[in-house]
Amino acid sequence: MKLHSPSVFQFLGRHVLFLRICIDKKENNPNCYIRDRWVLANGNWGGCWSWRIQPRGRSASEHDTLLSIINGLSLVSEESDGWKCWNSWVPRKVNVFNWRALNDRTPHISNLDKRGIDIHSLLCPICETEVEDINHIMFNCPKVKAVWSKCYDWWGIPTPEISSAINIGSSNIMVQEGNKDVAKIFHGVCLVTLWAVWSWRNRVVHALNECKQKIRNEDIFSQIQILSFLWISNRCKLIGFNWSIWVNNPKAVAGAIT
Ligand SMILES: [Zn+2]
Repeated sequence: MKLHSPSVFQFLGRHVLFLRICIDKKENNPNCYIRDRWVLANGNWGGCWSWRIQPRGRSASEHDTLLSIINGLSLVSEESDGWKCWNSWVPRKVNVFNWRALNDRTPHISNLDKRGIDIHSLLCPICETEVEDINHIMFNCPKVKAVWSKCYDWWGIPTPEISSAINIGSSNIMVQEGNKDVAKIFHGVCLVTLWAVWSWRNRVVHALNECKQKIRNEDIFSQIQILSFLWISNRCKLIGFNWSIWVNNPKAVAGAIT
């Protein structure tokens, strides 16, 4: 078990959250990694922090998120270090968003309301009928459900009852295909779908009132096909990855025609 392999910890420490805490000059050593501060003591892993100033406010919140992320790490003996939910075939921003969603750290309306921010309406910006929380906006909103349904149909996989971010986080229901490349590609598509739904939702929120309905009525499924093709084909380097196969039989790109 390579707990101190720098790959995951450097990524976590340098690029996701810790850097911002360091920039705020809260950490005594601005060049330290998480691996320098996450230590094994008396058989338990835990933080051994060295704050010059105790993080407060936003830094404290980022610190909490960091702890959630570290606690979500799945390290498996005799395998390279990795994040169970991390998918190297989609961009970092998509993975980071997945983690934010998994830890309910996205600024959806219920979270803003919990922080005491005055919100005009608690209703979902897309369907305008139910309160927006993470599971609603990512899965249960009727318009979002329709998007998921199209993605599953495209892949020829029966649409499961997805009702929580944990399902995506654990990725178990997403990765039931026999071929591990197919499973990883499909998992990547699911992460891109989450990211695309959140982008869609944000475009509605930030649009002028007279433009909101037009954006709500958009069908983002084709964007998901295009983005996932561009991102995954660029990274996974599998032979036979072309657009026509991608839209007609995506499993075939990994040589697993079913
Ligand atoms: Zn909704």
